[in-house]
Amino acid sequence: MTASRILIVEDEEKLARLLADYLVAAGYAADSLGDGREVVPWVKAQAPDLVILDLMLPGRDGLELCREIRAFSTVPIIMATARAEEIDRLLGLELGADDYICKPYSPREVVARVKAVLRRMQPALAGAPLDDGLVLDEAGFRVRSPAGEVELTAVEFHLFATLYREPGRIFSRGQLMDHIYTDQRIVSDRTIDSHIKKLRKKLAEVSPDVELIHSVYGAGYRYEPV
Ligand code: CA
Repeated sequence: MTASRILIVEDEEKLARLLADYLVAAGYAADSLGDGREVVPWVKAQAPDLVILDLMLPGRDGLELCREIRAFSTVPIIMATARAEEIDRLLGLELGADDYICKPYSPREVVARVKAVLRRMQPALAGAPLDDGLVLDEAGFRVRSPAGEVELTAVEFHLFATLYREPGRIFSRGQLMDHIYTDQRIVSDRTIDSHIKKLRKKLAEVSPDVELIHSVYGAGYRYEPV
């Protein structure tokens, strides 16, 4: 099997080199570009398996590049930004990035994210349904697995179904509120957090060893298939 090819778009040379070393050590092939203007032609010509894209770049910025790449390619994109509070805004723009990381990051963390994103792509590529053993019973607000069955409240069920239908996608608290409350009622971020807390506790009954709902620091939540 050939190694997945990762393109690092990063203008801090030292950081790009460090990241490349870690990726290569983890069994990937890594290339890097430091100038935003080189990115689109390179992606078109080389078709990498994943792109790590810095937001602030000389030449072209990461936002523009993400949109432009999405116009011709479904290559997974991990966006890197220096500001955690920016992630929520980026999510709202629906750029089509697959994950977001906050700088300064540890190369180890980036490698873990790369692995997770590539793994998530597998079922999509094969066109296979998620094989995680879960069944969502919409009529009864129940979730079943080989380990058992759990009954949720309506809000918990809709919250979980929203995350579950798009595995790996990060939803901000605001987006989750929009999905689960149709009556425009004002709820705080804390409300979402407390529903998630109860939901996790209940889901532990059907998925005892694995956390299904992941918190993304500064951003929101996502469902990670087992
Ligand atoms: Ca930069």
